[in-house]
Amino acid sequence: MPAVTVEDTTALPRVPLPAPRTVRRRTRSVTTAPSGFEGEGFPVRRAFAGVDLRALDPFIHMDQMGEVEYAPGEPKGTSWHPHRGFETVTYIIDGTFEHADSHGGGGTISNGDTQWMTAGGGVLHIERPPEQLVVSGGLFHGLQLWVNLPRARKWVEPRYQDLRANASVLLASPDAGALLRVIAGDVAGHTGPGSTYTPMAMVHATVSPGATLDLPWRPDFNALVYVLSGAGSVGIDGAPVRTGQLAVLGPGDTVTVHGAVHQESRTPALDVVILGGRPIGEPIAMYGPFVMNTPEEVRDAFADFSAGRLGSVPALRVGAAVPHAGVRGQTGPADER
Ligand code: MN
Repeated sequence: MPAVTVEDTTALPRVPLPAPRTVRRRTRSVTTAPSGFEGEGFPVRRAFAGVDLRALDPFIHMDQMGEVEYAPGEPKGTSWHPHRGFETVTYIIDGTFEHADSHGGGGTISNGDTQWMTAGGGVLHIERPPEQLVVSGGLFHGLQLWVNLPRARKWVEPRYQDLRANASVLLASPDAGALLRVIAGDVAGHTGPGSTYTPMAMVHATVSPGATLDLPWRPDFNALVYVLSGAGSVGIDGAPVRTGQLAVLGPGDTVTVHGAVHQESRTPALDVVILGGRPIGEPIAMYGPFVMNTPEEVRDAFADFSAGRLGSVPALRVGAAVPHAGVRGQTGPADER
């Protein structure tokens, strides 16, 4: 798992030890992500499946993409598809992905890079492996998180943030047993590069076998811990978790993650994504690629998409990042990424 790694975590700034009266959060639920296929057929785990949206708020949806070793000719992406009313955050751990949108955003992201796309009032989007990866095959692993926008921000202008791996803020736990990559938000006074409309934090942590991470976490944020790989436990109650499981934690001001002493050899440490945000607390009407407040607004989004009002597919340039792009028809939301 490359993402961003460092030779010596002891050289990094450390998060402080928890305050004496800190409240370590307890585990409310642990769920196992079902596996499926997305877009034209790449394997995903639906990280939030079976969890009440109120516990996830302000987050809507998350897919772990891969980890998969593609054979030559096998890598898959999506065709052009619309979004409205939220933000998609794509974090690539291994491999390379290309994006383009109808608002002019896009680029290539790989090993530790993040693409933060604010769909706002509406955008068309395509996400694919680059041609050379399709030809060669190779390792691919990443995730895509959907962050809701509050009613007052659903119609903002689309925005694209290209967050390079080296912009992630790297920290270590007090005993340097855990490496933290802060992608967005403020963690123990260290602010990641992602700019968000909804106050939130996103951290990718690698916890060594036997190590414990006690991470200061804003008490007004919820707290979700998703296991990308490995085994361990979360919360002050030490609920066991393993690859593909999501823990929802209760209130408090510290998130506790412990790496199991014994890990499988292919996953030598516990890798988790820790998410939290201030709940928006508004009604959610979502269908496919649209996340709105009312069913009428979702119907309007489909109508606007059908009428071409969510943008048009950009003309392809010679050597453009997205080869063979086909315009998606009005076949509905199955291709929802
Ligand atoms: Mn998309």
